Amino acid sequence: MAPYRNLEEYNIEITNEVKTHFTKIVDDIGEDVTRDGLVKTPERAAKAMLFLTQGYKQDAEEILKGAMFEESYDDMVIIKDIELYSLCEHHMLPFFGKAHVAYIPNGHIVGLSKIPRVVDVFARRLQVQERLTHNILECINNTLKPKGVAVVIEAAHMCMMMRGVQKQNSVTTTSGFRGQFEKIETRNEFLKLISADLS
Ligand SMILES: [Zn+2]
Repeated sequence: MAPYRNLEEYNIEITNEVKTHFTKIVDDIGEDVTRDGLVKTPERAAKAMLFLTQGYKQDAEEILKGAMFEESYDDMVIIKDIELYSLCEHHMLPFFGKAHVAYIPNGHIVGLSKIPRVVDVFARRLQVQERLTHNILECINNTLKPKGVAVVIEAAHMCMMMRGVQKQNSVTTTSGFRGQFEKIETRNEFLKLISADLS
């Protein structure tokens, strides 16, 4: 057996159901669902959609609780440039970019890899960028109960770039701050530390 296998498991019933809908969509837009290149497309599209929305069945607070450690460190912890891919709930088209997350511990720290996982749990749902920002913020705030937490997301929205207003270079920035980050000095320190990569 291989040293590592990445197992993807799909619920067959749900996959088949979604696949049926995609077959109908491909047909409705005027394509020939039976031509070679498209035969397996509805199934692939169904699996992609289920992968991209897997966050509904995941509990972000449990992920953090599973990796909390007592620690007296009480300076700012920043995880910046977290890759982010989500689907806008209005068009089901991707929006993608970066998340920057910071917190000031209050007796507990969390395994650093868990913060990007929390971002993924909330990003892999139908979202708006504003709610995604607050989902991440509140999850960390409720679980770690830090002295402060900050989340900044910069993202480009395919629904703006490919259709509608066709503003191809616009980036949307959202932010949320709790606790000590509501103080202007702390917030500015955080923004300065992440701004090296803000474009
Ligand atoms: Zn949209």
